[in-house]
Amino acid sequence: MTAVIQPGQITEAQPEVPALRPADRKIFRRRAERLRALAAGHAMEDYLSFMARLADAQQSALDIYSEVAEAIPDPQAVARARDLGLPPFPAQGWARDSSWRAALRNILEDVRREAPEPLCIAIDELMNTASTELEGMADRILTGNDPMLDPAMAPLIGAALQVYWTHLSTSIDQADPQREQQPSTCPVCGSHPVASLRRIGGVEQGLRYLHCSLCETEWNYVRIKCTSCESTTGIGYYGVDGEREAVEAEACDDCHGYLKLMHMERDPDVDAIADDLATLALDIAMADEGYTRVGLNLLFVPGEEVSTAN
Ligand SMILES: [Zn+2]
Ligand SMILES: [Zn+2]
Repeated sequence: MTAVIQPGQITEAQPEVPALRPADRKIFRRRAERLRALAAGHAMEDYLSFMARLADAQQSALDIYSEVAEAIPDPQAVARARDLGLPPFPAQGWARDSSWRAALRNILEDVRREAPEPLCIAIDELMNTASTELEGMADRILTGNDPMLDPAMAPLIGAALQVYWTHLSTSIDQADPQREQQPSTCPVCGSHPVASLRRIGGVEQGLRYLHCSLCETEWNYVRIKCTSCESTTGIGYYGVDGEREAVEAEACDDCHGYLKLMHMERDPDVDAIADDLATLALDIAMADEGYTRVGLNLLFVPGEEVSTAN
């Protein structure tokens, strides 16, 4: 017997929007290229060029991780966390093994060769810092803004922690269970986003993803919604030099916070962390307007003297 299908019964299978976009293990290479491109002719050319070298060093450190067997996460512990709806590698509370300090040492040795004199002092000091003290500094960086952080040392430690967490986040199969609500912190490590991207291509066309400040995972988040207080009204967009800029600030009139939004359709090469560093002028303009930054960038401590890299 032939079943008769009524027109109304035919439903086209909708391609599923990925809730998570895991990083790939070449992310720091691409970031270094982006930073070099942004540096050319930029008012902060020396600073951005140095950050490109730092991203290169991060890539080398991550490549070495492929050979470090002890740093592979336990899949059963990952599954348990996931069943409980918790980030499998929480930035705060995860028992880091010593491999992140090995990554830090690799990064320090790499960047020291071309580092400006004031930074060499910070690098040498870090190289001679005891493990327990380094762990304490890492804890303070991972718990958020600490006004006592050394502005020269903190980005170097942050860079090593990014490498370690990117190694963790890319070592597991990140099939994320569909959640009822989209979290405003990273589903993989619980950290705050650095910025958000409006993506292009395929099912992700026009969708917004938040980019993790620590493990480089991206997760889907509804557009025109404050990631700080979750308000959906009173959201405005600001740029520095006019219209259709690739990087804007999405500002909330309820909590007066803002997060940068990067439009891939205006520049397909935008990188959440690199483009954030290259648009500090936007942060200054937003502070003048009375808005507070909610994006977290581990490579930049607010108040840092950018000239240390000259
Ligand atoms: Zn994360
Ligand atoms: Zn808000």
